[in-house]
Amino acid sequence: MVYDVRYCELCGALIRGSAHRVTVEGVSMMVCGRCYSRLASRRAREPPRPQRPPAPPRRVSRPAPRPKPRKDTLYDRYEVVEDYAERIRRARLRLGWSQAALAQRVGEGENVIKRIEAGRLVPPIELARRLEKVLKIRLLEPVVEEVFPASTRGAEDYTLTLGDIVRIRGEDE
Ligand SMILES: [Zn+2]
Repeated sequence: MVYDVRYCELCGALIRGSAHRVTVEGVSMMVCGRCYSRLASRRAREPPRPQRPPAPPRRVSRPAPRPKPRKDTLYDRYEVVEDYAERIRRARLRLGWSQAALAQRVGEGENVIKRIEAGRLVPPIELARRLEKVLKIRLLEPVVEEVFPASTRGAEDYTLTLGDIVRIRGEDE
């Protein structure tokens, strides 16, 4: 044991009384009692972990939470398929309806149907839903979003990292 370190390697304070040794990412450090108790309380909140696959990381509440991926963008996002015009026209002809008949069934003007079938108007989602229903076709598909990696920290939450050191230092200011 080396006890000639007189200053806390975390906060830089002069160590009064006994120094404490902690291991951070494999690096041994001598810290003051104040830093040590902070680190100890940090660890005490984590349950003892036998050899098990990593559980979802526990978040220790901090003043500045990390940004979370927005889940709400993953739901209720649909877009009209690219070949909507062709799908609508074919389905309508298969049913033997005129454009006017289709327009009436979805409660739109005939002109709207003409423009949609010509590919000059992308039907709004609500209209596309009505067209899907009466024509029994699919016009909407969910928007595929790139999903954030759930957590890139994972196991790091259970051991002290250099990032923790930086934050602990920041608390002193
Ligand atoms: Zn210290």
